[in-house]
Amino acid sequence: MTADLDQLLAAVEARQSELFDLLCRLVSFETPAPPARNTTEAQQFVAQYLRELGAEIDIWDVHPGDPNVVGILRGSEGATHNSLIINGHVDVAAVELGEAWETGPFRPIVRDGVIIGRGTADMKGGLAGALFVVRILADHGIALPGDLIVQSVIGEEVGEAGTLQCCERGYTADMAVVVDTSDLHIQGQGGVITGWITVKSPQTFHDGTRGRMIHAGGGVFGASAIEKMAKIIQGLGELERHWAVTKQYPGCPLGSTTINPAVIEGGRHAAFIADECRLWITVHYYPNENFADVIREIEEHIGGVASGDPWLRVNPPTFVWGGTSMIIDRGEIFPALEVDPAHPGTILLATMHERVAAQKAIVDVSPTVTDGGWFGDVGIPAVIYGPGELRHAHSVNEQVSIDQLVTFTKVLLAFVLNWTSTRKQ
Ligand SMILES: [Zn+2]
Repeated sequence: MTADLDQLLAAVEARQSELFDLLCRLVSFETPAPPARNTTEAQQFVAQYLRELGAEIDIWDVHPGDPNVVGILRGSEGATHNSLIINGHVDVAAVELGEAWETGPFRPIVRDGVIIGRGTADMKGGLAGALFVVRILADHGIALPGDLIVQSVIGEEVGEAGTLQCCERGYTADMAVVVDTSDLHIQGQGGVITGWITVKSPQTFHDGTRGRMIHAGGGVFGASAIEKMAKIIQGLGELERHWAVTKQYPGCPLGSTTINPAVIEGGRHAAFIADECRLWITVHYYPNENFADVIREIEEHIGGVASGDPWLRVNPPTFVWGGTSMIIDRGEIFPALEVDPAHPGTILLATMHERVAAQKAIVDVSPTVTDGGWFGDVGIPAVIYGPGELRHAHSVNEQVSIDQLVTFTKVLLAFVLNWTSTRKQ
């Protein structure tokens, strides 16, 4: 196996221009989200690429114009050996009009040690590397002992979680590697959930009623939903501070558990007392927390705030958490992912990284979120490991280092070969 591996790694090195061409081809498909619904061509390309290499293909529309693709390479030893999911998203960050790209976001260029184009770092670089691993294995006639499942998913940039659908469709494995932007660190992540808090009055009062609503002897039991929401925002700030003081997680900056009052909507007209107010919040939590607990903490705390107010006690705020899309229902969830450094898969990936990249492996926590949390959520041990730096993701002239892309592809190849050649424990 060792000699084989060295040959395979040499092949990646020798054929790297094919890898660059593959990445450039992927970038040339315009798949920004938003607006989304534009990945069919790219996904058909991915499906065809994998089909030619012997994969069974499962392709289905998550939304019209946004299909998921899963390529399955059945292991020669069946269920006795470790299986692996490699996951990447094919959608890329939105492009704004007038951005100063050198050649345009979807006209990639290879130059001075980098490849520039939308998605090179986040994360068509990782996806290209994963596809190229399958290509190299196939071209050398290598049948992996354990199953390899390659998932090219949609919707990550807008919280549409193509990955969640892959999990719900039953795809599982002994480990998952999400090849999203990690600068070749092996990473877990904190979680993010959005929520809407609504304060609503059962009646709508005219502006002229305000005096009787707030002054002695007025006798009208009513309130401005906007003013009551201000109280709730203050309560959220208190909870955020309490979390900052009481919670911590190794590798995460203190105070990462934030509650951002991101968007507020409310009131109907200057002639009325605001009868409804809605607040859109974004909540970050640590890798060892889950969103159900975080939701409960917020609802309990705000419930306490409401019970201390005579009007909110009778008209308590309501909560809607998460969502399936930032475009459709204005909500999203990215579950947290905790990486077990003692898991055999983590150890093997770190070992392959050290051997192939000749650098010390770094296991830490991503400062952003990826689809990795969905695997943790269904109990599949998972890590994030991919080429590219976060400072380039979503940026103008987004780029990935050629060295890092090649190194990533070699490490992933070594890992895939070794992991799927290992008997299940
Ligand atoms: Zn990404």
